[in-house]
Amino acid sequence: MIDRRSFLALPALLSLAAAPIGKAFAAPAASASPGIALFMIGDIRVTALASGYIDIGLDLFPRTPRAEGEAALAESPQQRPLRGHVNAFLVESAGRTILVDAGASATVFPTAGRFPGSLQAVGVAAADVDLVVSTHLHVDHIGGLTDANGRAVFDRAALVIAEAERQHWLAAETLDRTRTEARPFVHAARNALAAYAERLVAVSGDREIAPGVRIVPTYGHTPGHSALHLSSGDRQALIWGDIIHAPALQFARPDWTIAFDADQDAAVATRARMLDRSASDRLLVFGAHLPFPGAGYVVRRGQAYRFEAAHHEFGN
Ligand SMILES: [Zn+2]
Repeated sequence: MIDRRSFLALPALLSLAAAPIGKAFAAPAASASPGIALFMIGDIRVTALASGYIDIGLDLFPRTPRAEGEAALAESPQQRPLRGHVNAFLVESAGRTILVDAGASATVFPTAGRFPGSLQAVGVAAADVDLVVSTHLHVDHIGGLTDANGRAVFDRAALVIAEAERQHWLAAETLDRTRTEARPFVHAARNALAAYAERLVAVSGDREIAPGVRIVPTYGHTPGHSALHLSSGDRQALIWGDIIHAPALQFARPDWTIAFDADQDAAVATRARMLDRSASDRLLVFGAHLPFPGAGYVVRRGQAYRFEAAHHEFGN
Protein backbone atom coordinates (compact mmCIF):
# COMPACT_ATOMS: atom_id res chain seq x y z
CA MET A 1 0.00 0.00 0.00
CA ILE A 2 1.31 3.43 -0.87
CA ASP A 3 1.11 5.87 2.03
CA ARG A 4 1.21 9.60 1.67
CA ARG A 5 4.95 9.88 2.29
CA SER A 6 5.96 7.33 -0.33
CA PHE A 7 3.36 8.77 -2.71
CA LEU A 8 5.02 12.16 -2.41
CA ALA A 9 8.39 10.52 -3.00
CA LEU A 10 7.12 8.62 -6.05
CA PRO A 11 8.01 11.15 -8.74
CA ALA A 12 11.56 11.33 -7.40
CA LEU A 13 11.83 7.52 -7.32
CA LEU A 14 10.45 7.25 -10.83
CA SER A 15 12.85 9.84 -12.14
CA LEU A 16 15.73 8.01 -10.46
CA ALA A 17 14.65 4.72 -11.96
CA ALA A 18 14.21 6.34 -15.34
CA ALA A 19 17.53 8.13 -15.34
CA PRO A 20 19.78 5.36 -16.64
CA ILE A 21 17.22 4.35 -19.27
CA GLY A 22 16.72 7.97 -20.23
CA LYS A 23 20.46 8.33 -20.68
CA ALA A 24 20.88 5.12 -22.64
CA PHE A 25 18.10 6.04 -25.05
CA ALA A 26 18.71 9.78 -25.12
CA ALA A 27 17.70 11.07 -28.52
CA PRO A 28 20.21 13.33 -30.24
CA ALA A 29 19.30 17.00 -30.05
CA ALA A 30 16.90 17.89 -32.83
CA SER A 31 19.38 20.44 -34.11
CA ALA A 32 21.90 17.66 -34.74
CA SER A 33 19.50 15.23 -36.38
CA PRO A 34 20.66 14.28 -39.87
CA GLY A 35 18.35 12.99 -42.55
CA ILE A 36 19.07 10.67 -45.44
CA ALA A 37 16.88 8.67 -47.82
CA LEU A 38 17.90 6.48 -50.73
CA PHE A 39 16.36 6.15 -54.19
CA MET A 40 17.39 4.05 -57.19
CA ILE A 41 16.91 5.26 -60.75
CA GLY A 42 17.95 2.12 -62.59
CA ASP A 43 21.63 1.80 -61.69
CA ILE A 44 21.95 5.37 -60.44
CA ARG A 45 21.71 5.87 -56.71
CA VAL A 46 20.36 9.14 -55.33
CA THR A 47 20.60 9.91 -51.63
CA ALA A 48 18.58 12.84 -50.33
CA LEU A 49 20.47 14.81 -47.68
CA ALA A 50 18.49 16.96 -45.26
CA SER A 51 19.99 20.33 -44.44
CA GLY A 52 16.99 21.50 -42.42
CA TYR A 53 14.36 24.12 -43.05
CA ILE A 54 13.70 27.82 -43.37
CA ASP A 55 10.33 29.28 -42.43
CA ILE A 56 9.01 31.79 -44.91
CA GLY A 57 5.83 33.83 -45.28
CA LEU A 58 3.22 34.72 -47.88
CA ASP A 59 4.76 38.17 -48.13
CA LEU A 60 7.59 36.54 -50.11
CA PHE A 61 5.15 35.68 -52.93
CA PRO A 62 4.61 38.99 -54.76
CA ARG A 63 2.02 37.69 -57.25
CA THR A 64 -0.08 35.83 -54.69
CA PRO A 65 -3.14 37.76 -53.49
CA ARG A 66 -3.10 37.44 -49.70
CA ALA A 67 -6.60 35.96 -49.35
CA GLU A 68 -6.01 33.37 -52.10
CA GLY A 69 -2.69 32.41 -50.56
CA GLU A 70 -4.25 32.05 -47.12
CA ALA A 71 -7.03 29.91 -48.59
CA ALA A 72 -4.53 27.62 -50.33
CA LEU A 73 -2.52 27.18 -47.14
CA ALA A 74 -5.66 26.55 -45.10
CA GLU A 75 -6.35 23.38 -47.15
CA SER A 76 -3.35 21.64 -45.60
CA PRO A 77 -2.83 20.84 -41.91
CA GLN A 78 0.93 21.12 -42.42
CA GLN A 79 1.37 24.60 -43.85
CA ARG A 80 1.66 26.66 -40.67
CA PRO A 81 4.36 27.83 -40.55
CA LEU A 82 5.03 27.93 -44.29
CA ARG A 83 8.18 25.87 -44.12
CA GLY A 84 10.67 25.45 -46.92
CA HIS A 85 12.84 22.41 -46.45
CA VAL A 86 16.44 22.59 -47.61
CA ASN A 87 17.72 19.45 -49.32
CA ALA A 88 20.88 18.47 -51.13
CA PHE A 89 21.39 15.26 -53.10
CA LEU A 90 24.19 12.79 -53.63
CA VAL A 91 24.23 11.01 -56.99
CA GLU A 92 26.32 7.89 -57.59
CA SER A 93 26.58 6.69 -61.16
CA ALA A 94 29.15 4.36 -62.74
CA GLY A 95 31.69 4.93 -59.97
CA ARG A 96 31.29 8.72 -60.01
CA THR A 97 30.17 10.49 -56.84
CA ILE A 98 28.34 13.74 -57.54
CA LEU A 99 27.04 16.15 -54.95
CA VAL A 100 24.15 18.36 -56.06
CA ASP A 101 24.07 21.51 -53.92
CA ALA A 102 25.40 21.68 -50.37
CA GLY A 103 22.65 23.04 -48.15
CA ALA A 104 22.78 26.13 -46.01
CA SER A 105 25.33 27.16 -43.44
CA ALA A 106 24.25 27.03 -39.79
CA THR A 107 25.75 30.45 -39.20
CA VAL A 108 23.45 32.02 -41.79
CA PHE A 109 20.39 29.80 -41.17
CA PRO A 110 20.52 28.12 -37.73
CA THR A 111 17.61 25.80 -38.65
CA ALA A 112 19.13 24.69 -41.94
CA GLY A 113 22.71 23.72 -41.18
CA ARG A 114 22.40 19.94 -40.97
CA PHE A 115 24.03 19.24 -44.35
CA PRO A 116 27.49 18.17 -43.07
CA GLY A 117 25.92 15.74 -40.58
CA SER A 118 23.65 14.23 -43.21
CA LEU A 119 26.54 13.71 -45.63
CA GLN A 120 28.55 12.12 -42.82
CA ALA A 121 25.62 9.81 -42.06
CA VAL A 122 25.86 8.42 -45.61
CA GLY A 123 29.51 7.53 -44.97
CA VAL A 124 30.83 9.65 -47.82
CA ALA A 125 33.91 11.71 -47.06
CA ALA A 126 34.60 15.05 -48.73
CA ALA A 127 37.52 13.48 -50.61
CA ASP A 128 35.18 10.85 -52.12
CA VAL A 129 33.23 13.48 -54.06
CA ASP A 130 34.31 13.78 -57.72
CA LEU A 131 31.95 16.52 -58.85
CA VAL A 132 29.88 19.15 -57.12
CA VAL A 133 27.02 20.48 -59.22
CA SER A 134 25.57 23.78 -58.11
CA THR A 135 22.01 24.32 -59.36
CA HIS A 136 22.61 27.99 -58.55
CA LEU A 137 24.64 30.07 -56.12
CA HIS A 138 22.00 31.21 -53.64
CA VAL A 139 23.22 31.04 -50.09
CA ASP A 140 20.87 28.20 -49.07
CA HIS A 141 22.58 25.94 -51.64
CA ILE A 142 26.27 26.64 -51.08
CA GLY A 143 26.62 26.60 -47.28
CA GLY A 144 28.52 23.31 -47.19
CA LEU A 145 30.89 24.11 -50.06
CA THR A 146 33.40 26.06 -47.97
CA ASP A 147 34.74 25.84 -44.43
CA ALA A 148 34.94 28.63 -41.82
CA ASN A 149 38.10 29.92 -43.51
CA GLY A 150 36.48 30.06 -46.92
CA ARG A 151 38.39 27.05 -48.25
CA ALA A 152 36.86 24.36 -50.46
CA VAL A 153 35.48 21.48 -48.36
CA PHE A 154 35.46 19.15 -51.38
CA ASP A 155 39.13 19.59 -52.13
CA ARG A 156 39.31 17.09 -54.98
CA ALA A 157 36.00 17.88 -56.68
CA ALA A 158 35.36 20.01 -59.71
CA LEU A 159 32.53 22.53 -59.33
CA VAL A 160 30.12 22.30 -62.25
CA ILE A 161 27.94 25.32 -62.86
CA ALA A 162 26.23 27.07 -65.77
CA GLU A 163 28.41 29.68 -67.41
CA ALA A 164 25.49 32.13 -67.19
CA GLU A 165 25.39 31.64 -63.41
CA ARG A 166 29.12 32.22 -63.07
CA GLN A 167 28.94 35.39 -65.17
CA HIS A 168 25.93 36.73 -63.25
CA TRP A 169 27.52 36.55 -59.81
CA LEU A 170 30.88 37.89 -60.95
CA ALA A 171 29.39 40.83 -62.88
CA ALA A 172 30.05 44.24 -61.33
CA GLU A 173 26.46 45.34 -62.00
CA THR A 174 25.08 42.41 -59.97
CA LEU A 175 26.69 43.83 -56.84
CA ASP A 176 25.79 47.40 -57.81
CA ARG A 177 22.11 46.54 -58.27
CA THR A 178 21.87 44.58 -54.99
CA ARG A 179 20.68 46.54 -51.99
CA THR A 180 23.22 46.85 -49.20
CA GLU A 181 21.64 44.39 -46.78
CA ALA A 182 21.59 41.63 -49.45
CA ARG A 183 25.17 42.15 -50.61
CA PRO A 184 26.59 39.47 -48.27
CA PHE A 185 24.73 36.95 -50.47
CA VAL A 186 26.58 38.16 -53.56
CA HIS A 187 29.87 37.92 -51.68
CA ALA A 188 28.99 34.39 -50.52
CA ALA A 189 28.42 33.32 -54.13
CA ARG A 190 31.69 34.91 -55.19
CA ASN A 191 33.54 33.25 -52.32
CA ALA A 192 32.25 29.83 -53.39
CA LEU A 193 33.41 30.49 -56.97
CA ALA A 194 36.80 31.66 -55.70
CA ALA A 195 37.28 28.57 -53.50
CA TYR A 196 36.78 26.29 -56.51
CA ALA A 197 38.35 28.61 -59.12
CA GLU A 198 41.03 26.11 -60.12
CA ARG A 199 38.53 23.32 -60.62
CA LEU A 200 35.58 25.24 -62.01
CA VAL A 201 33.73 23.72 -64.97
CA ALA A 202 31.32 26.28 -66.44
CA VAL A 203 28.94 24.73 -68.97
CA SER A 204 26.51 26.11 -71.51
CA GLY A 205 23.36 24.32 -72.62
CA ASP A 206 22.48 20.68 -72.05
CA ARG A 207 25.53 18.53 -71.33
CA GLU A 208 26.32 15.04 -70.03
CA ILE A 209 28.63 15.22 -67.00
CA ALA A 210 28.65 11.53 -66.02
CA PRO A 211 27.06 8.36 -67.45
CA GLY A 212 23.29 8.99 -67.52
CA VAL A 213 23.66 12.37 -65.81
CA ARG A 214 22.99 15.60 -67.74
CA ILE A 215 23.01 19.19 -66.56
CA VAL A 216 20.11 21.04 -68.20
CA PRO A 217 19.33 24.76 -68.32
CA THR A 218 16.32 25.84 -66.25
CA TYR A 219 17.09 29.55 -66.19
CA GLY A 220 14.73 31.99 -64.49
CA HIS A 221 15.05 31.62 -60.72
CA THR A 222 18.62 32.79 -61.34
CA PRO A 223 20.22 33.59 -64.72
CA GLY A 224 22.04 30.23 -64.77
CA HIS A 225 19.73 28.06 -62.68
CA SER A 226 20.20 24.42 -63.76
CA ALA A 227 18.69 21.02 -63.15
CA LEU A 228 20.16 17.54 -63.35
CA HIS A 229 18.48 14.93 -65.52
CA LEU A 230 19.16 11.30 -64.61
CA SER A 231 18.49 8.35 -66.88
CA SER A 232 19.22 4.66 -66.37
CA GLY A 233 17.43 1.67 -67.85
CA ASP A 234 13.81 2.69 -68.30
CA ARG A 235 13.80 5.15 -65.41
CA GLN A 236 14.29 8.91 -65.44
CA ALA A 237 14.54 11.51 -62.73
CA LEU A 238 15.07 15.21 -62.43
CA ILE A 239 16.86 17.03 -59.61
CA TRP A 240 15.24 20.34 -60.32
CA GLY A 241 16.70 22.77 -57.78
CA ASP A 242 14.37 25.70 -57.05
CA ILE A 243 11.43 25.08 -59.40
CA ILE A 244 9.00 24.99 -56.43
CA HIS A 245 9.46 26.80 -53.11
CA ALA A 246 6.00 26.34 -51.59
CA PRO A 247 4.27 23.12 -52.72
CA ALA A 248 0.96 24.19 -51.14
CA LEU A 249 0.90 27.23 -53.40
CA GLN A 250 2.83 26.65 -56.58
CA PHE A 251 1.76 23.22 -57.89
CA ALA A 252 -1.77 24.59 -58.17
CA ARG A 253 -0.59 28.06 -59.23
CA PRO A 254 2.71 27.80 -61.16
CA ASP A 255 2.37 31.53 -61.97
CA TRP A 256 2.87 32.45 -58.30
CA THR A 257 6.50 33.49 -58.08
CA ILE A 258 8.74 33.92 -55.06
CA ALA A 259 10.59 37.20 -54.49
CA PHE A 260 13.91 35.40 -55.04
CA ASP A 261 13.03 34.56 -58.66
CA ALA A 262 15.51 36.90 -60.33
CA ASP A 263 13.50 37.07 -63.58
CA GLN A 264 9.88 36.59 -62.50
CA ASP A 265 8.44 35.93 -65.98
CA ALA A 266 11.25 33.55 -66.96
CA ALA A 267 10.80 31.69 -63.66
CA VAL A 268 7.08 31.22 -64.40
CA ALA A 269 7.82 29.97 -67.92
CA THR A 270 10.49 27.55 -66.70
CA ARG A 271 8.28 26.27 -63.87
CA ALA A 272 5.44 25.66 -66.34
CA ARG A 273 7.78 23.82 -68.72
CA MET A 274 9.35 21.64 -66.01
CA LEU A 275 6.00 20.76 -64.43
CA ASP A 276 4.58 19.81 -67.84
CA ARG A 277 7.63 17.69 -68.68
CA SER A 278 7.73 16.03 -65.26
CA ALA A 279 4.04 15.11 -65.42
CA SER A 280 4.15 13.96 -69.07
CA ASP A 281 7.27 11.81 -68.64
CA ARG A 282 6.32 10.67 -65.11
CA LEU A 283 9.71 11.75 -63.86
CA LEU A 284 10.72 11.16 -60.27
CA VAL A 285 11.55 14.72 -59.25
CA PHE A 286 13.82 15.85 -56.45
CA GLY A 287 13.41 19.41 -55.18
CA ALA A 288 15.75 21.44 -53.04
CA HIS A 289 12.77 22.87 -51.14
CA LEU A 290 10.17 20.11 -51.34
CA PRO A 291 9.42 18.41 -48.00
CA PHE A 292 12.31 16.09 -47.11
CA PRO A 293 13.32 13.79 -48.74
CA GLY A 294 12.16 16.14 -51.46
CA ALA A 295 11.18 13.34 -53.85
CA GLY A 296 7.92 12.79 -55.65
CA TYR A 297 5.84 13.00 -58.77
CA VAL A 298 4.03 15.81 -60.53
CA VAL A 299 0.43 14.82 -61.29
CA ARG A 300 -1.92 16.86 -63.48
CA ARG A 301 -4.98 18.31 -61.77
CA GLY A 302 -7.26 20.37 -64.02
CA GLN A 303 -5.22 23.12 -65.65
CA ALA A 304 -2.43 22.75 -63.08
CA TYR A 305 -0.79 20.10 -60.91
CA ARG A 306 -0.50 18.48 -57.53
CA PHE A 307 2.49 16.86 -55.83
CA GLU A 308 2.56 13.21 -54.84
CA ALA A 309 5.37 12.30 -52.45
CA ALA A 310 7.48 9.33 -53.55
CA HIS A 311 7.01 6.17 -51.52
CA HIS A 312 9.98 5.23 -49.41
CA GLU A 313 12.34 2.76 -51.08
CA PHE A 314 13.64 0.01 -48.85
CA GLY A 315 16.56 -0.93 -51.07
CA ASN A 316 15.76 -4.62 -51.38
ZN1 LIG B 1 16.85 27.81 -52.72
